[in-house]
Amino acid sequence: MLWRSHMPEREEFALQISNMLEAQLRRRGITDAVVLAAMESVPRHEFVSEEFRARAYDDVPLPIGDGQTISQPYIVAAMTAALRLRPGDRVLEIGTGSGYQAAILSRIAKEVFSVERRPELALSASARLERLGYGNVHVHCGDGTLGMPDLAPFDAILVAAAAPAIPQPLLAQLAEGGRMIVPVGDAEHQELQLIEKRGKSFRNTALEGCRFVPLVGYHGWQDPPSR
Ligand code: SAH
Repeated sequence: MLWRSHMPEREEFALQISNMLEAQLRRRGITDAVVLAAMESVPRHEFVSEEFRARAYDDVPLPIGDGQTISQPYIVAAMTAALRLRPGDRVLEIGTGSGYQAAILSRIAKEVFSVERRPELALSASARLERLGYGNVHVHCGDGTLGMPDLAPFDAILVAAAAPAIPQPLLAQLAEGGRMIVPVGDAEHQELQLIEKRGKSFRNTALEGCRFVPLVGYHGWQDPPSR
């Protein structure tokens, strides 16, 4: 936009980030200082294409190619906060997409393993995360509904795509005291579910409504559901 051209891009984004923190996060109940600091530090504009750069901090999900989306900032923050991460945690993310959510998790936890089924997205996210210096994120290409049994158990698992039901292998890969957040529902609408593992049992809490692209895989949708 021409009228903004007097302001360096860096300052413009800093202003947009502070507005996002206040209007989209704090005002909607995100109070966890560690989550807010992570949302402040990760440059979301680096995770979208040139075309969407100016809208990177808007209160919406944005296209990242292949019909996929980077989640709205509020949803990224709310899911991260629900996991109550600790600095030593090892986290599994399903659905790397742009790599933005993985970058946020990596600022709080020790290590992040992220699985993406689309090779092009896995490659570009991996290169982007490396370029930006997120050295504790490891991107793998494959069906995330199977989890990563070789690297389990995980202290926290975040599923960033809509599941028809909670994928059983992921439950089995939660550490004792582990937390998992997953959107469960149909193609149009899902509910965020928080699962906490206590001994042999799982406590399940329904959080808010949301809308994600489908989780496609062996323990997900067999084919993308028609919209
Ligand atoms: N967390 C991402 C946004 C995720 S969009 C970000 O911050 O940008 C959902 C992603 O899940 C898409 O990239 C989609 O390709 C991927 N996905 C869908 N089913 C999957 C599966 N079974 N395993 C791994 N990734 C999957």
